Amino acid sequence: MTSLWPRIEPLLARVHKPARYIGCEDGASVPAHGPGRAAWLLVYPDSYEVGLPNQGLQILYELLNERGDAVAERSYAPWTDMEAEMRRAGVPLFSLETHRRAGSFDVLAFNLSAELVYTNLLNCIDLAGVDVHADRRRPEDPLVVAGGHCTFNPEPLADFVDAFVIGDGEEVVGEITEVVAAWKRSGRTEGSRRRVLRELATVAGVYVPSLYDVSYDGPRLVAVTPRYPDVPAVVEKRTIADLGAWPYPRRQLVPLTEVVHDRLNVEIFRGCTRGCRFCQAGMITRPVRERPASQVREMVRSGLDRTGYDEVSLTSLSSADFSGIDEVVSGIINDPACSGQVSVSLPSLRVDAFTVGVAAEIQKVRRTGLTFAPEGGTWRMRQVINKLIREEDLYGAVEAAFSQGWHRVKLYFLTGLPTETEEDTLGIAELARNCAAVGRRHVRAPSVTASVGGFVPKPQTPFQWFRQDTVEELRAKVRLLRDATRRDPGVQLRWHDPRASVAEGIASRGDRRVGAVIEEVWRRGGTFQEWSEHFDLSRWTSAMDAHGLSLDWYVHRERPQDEVLPWDHVSAGLHRDFLWQEWRDALAAAGTPDCRWTPCYDCGACTGYGIEHVVGSPLPPAGGSQGTGQDLGGGMSVPVELRPSAVGAASR
Ligand code: SF4
Repeated sequence: MTSLWPRIEPLLARVHKPARYIGCEDGASVPAHGPGRAAWLLVYPDSYEVGLPNQGLQILYELLNERGDAVAERSYAPWTDMEAEMRRAGVPLFSLETHRRAGSFDVLAFNLSAELVYTNLLNCIDLAGVDVHADRRRPEDPLVVAGGHCTFNPEPLADFVDAFVIGDGEEVVGEITEVVAAWKRSGRTEGSRRRVLRELATVAGVYVPSLYDVSYDGPRLVAVTPRYPDVPAVVEKRTIADLGAWPYPRRQLVPLTEVVHDRLNVEIFRGCTRGCRFCQAGMITRPVRERPASQVREMVRSGLDRTGYDEVSLTSLSSADFSGIDEVVSGIINDPACSGQVSVSLPSLRVDAFTVGVAAEIQKVRRTGLTFAPEGGTWRMRQVINKLIREEDLYGAVEAAFSQGWHRVKLYFLTGLPTETEEDTLGIAELARNCAAVGRRHVRAPSVTASVGGFVPKPQTPFQWFRQDTVEELRAKVRLLRDATRRDPGVQLRWHDPRASVAEGIASRGDRRVGAVIEEVWRRGGTFQEWSEHFDLSRWTSAMDAHGLSLDWYVHRERPQDEVLPWDHVSAGLHRDFLWQEWRDALAAAGTPDCRWTPCYDCGACTGYGIEHVVGSPLPPAGGSQGTGQDLGGGMSVPVELRPSAVGAASR
């Protein structure tokens, strides 16, 4: 019998949220496994509620199940209560669709969206009955593959993952399938595992860490070099040129229980050229590729019709930048098929391009709070990070929000940014207080929440060389902000735990030696590190000590220009000298305009793909009111973004 269901079902009465482990969602496939079909288990290494909405996983799930030579099922990290029950009963990690043993699949493919899930990846491999160390796996074990944004520094997981996929997965997943299906047909004989890995290393966008030697000089990384001439010295990311050719997911999963982002999600474009220097997603997903507006409308209409959702999110890194976003949104709202009952949300919104008045229109069904993300407290700070929002524009947006019926506004900020002074930190409190004062002109008890996160420098960004703040430094900044806001009843301050920022810093910019730390944290019970109730920084710091690694070296140290970085052999397409120049410009508080509206400055992202940004509108006129940006001079438009609310923040 291949299904473990008879052994799983008795466990469900003893755990919270048993719906996490059942499957059977609308949109799920129950594929027919077969000897000629590569069997993929797509694993999101966090809870079902967090993992189910992940669009990247759902896209690959459909693409693989459409192929004749592949099948795909899903799994999510079992919550701690279920894990305990499974270990007690000897039940391994299983798939949701056919409740099959994870270890019986050909590929365990992990989606890595955040570094603090790394210990969960190890836990899932172990629960699958597979050795967490890649070099100790048996011929019959599945290949462990990982994709997602975190793979732009794969080194901390190099000992545990057989192959990383860098960049867009739509095309490469088919190429990997062909290699794996042939391996399966060959009977996965002794020694064939080495050969299949060697073959995968020749697939563009695939990095096989075991085929590279790493050398160090004391704490310093000297080189990561391929062992064979046919293995690439630098692995270039994959980029799909035409998003319109991939209208996925076509059948978005409808969960059985409440999940985050519980709505229809339609990706309207990929990539971002705004150039926020702290933003890894914006840097690694260039260039911008838009989905045709007609396809967006069709995906929305068919998705709403099929799922029964009454809310759609048009997703991207800066949704108001989509050409003709206003027509697309009004088309959805006024579509008779939607009966006036559909609300639209945009996960990031530029207030000038899509006025708060239009936000009132799109939220007429369900009006929640509005969120703006100035990120920095002063104009100087925002020039450093290249988030070029003027105070008057933020106040104008907030005024429009409160005057049109909103009572709650949320502001997102980062602290611990390069060159940040006390004045910059206190600027956060001043902006929040001023927004509350603006609100009092319109409503009796306005609420302004300032949500503050400790900045973690990310690979493949201009801030990859930056020295991250210590826990003590971040705490001092939070104290400053608490003192500066506590007398204003209209301002609520929320902040992320500075200790979690430090652990994230270890995993983000670590080299291959940090793998031992991740393993140690996992072995000491440190799973679900994104969840405050399970996080404990002392596990990380004691593991660093145990392996002779210095927190100051890995996290709290500025890197020189000539230092070999652990991710230098993985390319997001960006020239290193472009990133370095951006870093120097940041230190000089000099902004860089969005290349959608200005000439290309050759960051490298478009080179070789034969594609250019899809731009629907010319440079917006100053003060434009037709869904365009306000000109700051120098062609810069004024971005103010709306984001969905975050979880896991502390508050006073
Ligand atoms: S290569 Fe030029 S146009 Fe393309 S993202 Fe970089 S700066 Fe913009």
